[in-house]
Amino acid sequence: MANLSIELTAPNGVKYTQPTGLFINNEFVASSKGELIESIDPATESKIAEVHAASEEDVDKAVQAARAALKHESWKHLPGTDRGILMAKLADLLEEQKELFATIDAWDNGKPYSVALSEDLPEAIGTIRYYSGWADKTFGQTISTTSAKFAYTIRQPIGVIGQIIPWNYPLSMAAWKLGPALACGNTIVIKAAEQTPLSILVLATLIKKAGFPPGVVNIINGYGREAGAALVQHPLVDKIAFTGSTATASQIMKMASGTLKNITLETGGKSPLLVFNDCDLEQAVKWSHAGIMSNKGEICTATSRILVQQDIYEKFLEKFKVQVKDVSKVGDQWDSETFQGPQVTRTQYDRILSFIEAGKSEGATVLCGGGAREGKGFFIQPTVFTDVKDTMRIYREEIFGPVVTISSFSTEDEAVDRANDTTYGLGASVFTKDLERAHRVAAEIEAGMVWINSSQDCDFRIPFGGVKQSGIGRELGEAGLEGYTQIKAVHVNMGTKL
Ligand code: NAD
Repeated sequence: MANLSIELTAPNGVKYTQPTGLFINNEFVASSKGELIESIDPATESKIAEVHAASEEDVDKAVQAARAALKHESWKHLPGTDRGILMAKLADLLEEQKELFATIDAWDNGKPYSVALSEDLPEAIGTIRYYSGWADKTFGQTISTTSAKFAYTIRQPIGVIGQIIPWNYPLSMAAWKLGPALACGNTIVIKAAEQTPLSILVLATLIKKAGFPPGVVNIINGYGREAGAALVQHPLVDKIAFTGSTATASQIMKMASGTLKNITLETGGKSPLLVFNDCDLEQAVKWSHAGIMSNKGEICTATSRILVQQDIYEKFLEKFKVQVKDVSKVGDQWDSETFQGPQVTRTQYDRILSFIEAGKSEGATVLCGGGAREGKGFFIQPTVFTDVKDTMRIYREEIFGPVVTISSFSTEDEAVDRANDTTYGLGASVFTKDLERAHRVAAEIEAGMVWINSSQDCDFRIPFGGVKQSGIGRELGEAGLEGYTQIKAVHVNMGTKL
């Protein structure tokens, strides 16, 4: 029997037991092929731990467990109210150990511990707690037809849900997926990203402790092409909910078509941020900096294309440069002064640096930053490009790093046209004091979310998702339930007279 846990001490002194197996049927098990995933501290490039990677056979075991749980009376007949109680208990358990979870995500992902604790954890806890309240509120309707007949609808779970999550917010992405799926009575196989496999296994221990029946939530690590693809193609999985790159989403859509699976996709973005002459400039600079530089730029909704109206363009650049210098302190996860930690992996670091080189070689001007930080770790200087043409790769492609382009526009029509000149449509910001303009532009922009005089607001009560190639479906809020229930119509014949 393999050893399926390891004792770890994080750089901030927190000691804990890290499970390393696959969580199937409320037990940790070894992977069938013995394949492992290595988790690296991106600040030091040293190994944190190795965890088991699921093979196709392991994915099948997890799916079978979820299938069996779906039919088991301990879950199938559990009243929604009791399901909500289990979920609320899970949220409480998570909250009790929030420092531990913040430590693990900071260590594994590279984000500052203080941010993980003050932002990621409240989001994860809040999301599970919010959806615990929905567990007994997913009603159907009664629909009158004729005097002899009527129909009612029942909202039923979709079944076994395969969930595939990314590495930029490991725990909160898990909560976004688990919360609504559990509230609606589904069972789950969730696969974490291979870059950040640790916190979700500790979460697995809380699933069991909270009292969820075996098989309801199965948690696996594994590589996308192997475990991810096996989950997407499994005939007993009824739905795939995915967050990650648009390229992978497109492959998932193709694979899911084989069994006509229901899908929800949250993918990439190249979100515009428009700054009009009449804005509060200090606010615009503050939010536009946070909108791209927070979480090391590893945010799908990052406002990575800033467009500023001509008259205030030079002033905006001056102030933005000062903001980067004053706020974007690059450092490790444990320094309370750190604003920007290391990028998640060497691959991501190399990818961002190659975009920076592309920007330079295509003729854009580097206003600040423009390269890596010397020494160990995947640290990149916050980088601002000006003199950017709309055809350049840095303007068109999702970089997913602390790199922004700032260009200018003259009229509102031009601003909206350029904002919409992208295959993506996730978020968008508009800065203006003119109320009419704010709402007009918000309506015209092709995006799933618009921030007026802000950027990156995200709340578990508010729908989140994209249009165009930024996704299909919505997560969070009441809208997030739509993706996890199906409506059954029951026709009732009340008499024989008509
Ligand atoms: P990715 O889309 O490849 O990975 C996301 C998840 O999908 C991971 O769990 C991965 O294991 C899984 N996956 C990968 N290939 C799969 C497949 N063929 N079948 C099923 N599952 C599969 O993203 P990445 O390679 O980690 O990052 C590449 C780029 O994606 C980033 O630079 C960034 O631009 C973008 N990205 C976007 C988001 C987002 O939230 N929108 C998150 C992560 C990455």
